[in-house]
Amino acid sequence: MKNVITLKNTTHKKSHSHMKWAWIIMILFLTLGIIDFRFGILGIACMGAPLYHAARGKGKIHCQKYCPRGSLLGRMLESVSMQNKLPKFMVTKKFKNGLLSFMLIVFSFSMYHAGLNFARIAFAMFRFMSMSLVIGIVMGVFFKPRSWCVVCPMGHGTVLLDRHVIKPMNEKKKEAIVEEVISANKKAS
Ligand code: SF4
Repeated sequence: MKNVITLKNTTHKKSHSHMKWAWIIMILFLTLGIIDFRFGILGIACMGAPLYHAARGKGKIHCQKYCPRGSLLGRMLESVSMQNKLPKFMVTKKFKNGLLSFMLIVFSFSMYHAGLNFARIAFAMFRFMSMSLVIGIVMGVFFKPRSWCVVCPMGHGTVLLDRHVIKPMNEKKKEAIVEEVISANKKAS
């Protein structure tokens, strides 16, 4: 009998959405940050989570199921939003890339000025997170509640990371595995 090696069908467990309650985390973050801005350091988790999920090959799952900011905008603004469509120029790649670059430059500058001082880094992160939330709220009032998510640098950065780095890497891995299985089957037969 021939030993034939086959590729396993890997299926991911379905994860539930936490968007109904994830906004509480954002409120908690803001409250803690106002009490003591050193809690602003927790913003690292909020900024890093989408990238972490994308790096694990889960694409924009953070935006769909976990994001506290997206959850807050969606729930808080639903009843007050004017529900207008975003202007066309805002949904273009150029605009999203421009905003991502701008936010990266602003963030890098603030980190540079904070130096290695923990309190300053934490404050810079808190300010950055709060400012983007305020912009998100203003956008959510004038346009649809989660309009910020259309242009959000974290969301857009996640898409770019997923499309240009993670997916090509995974494709290469898959190809290597398929080649391995084919050559192992050839040897076995
Ligand atoms: S696009 Fe930005 S704000 Fe919206 S859900 Fe994703 S990470 Fe959160």
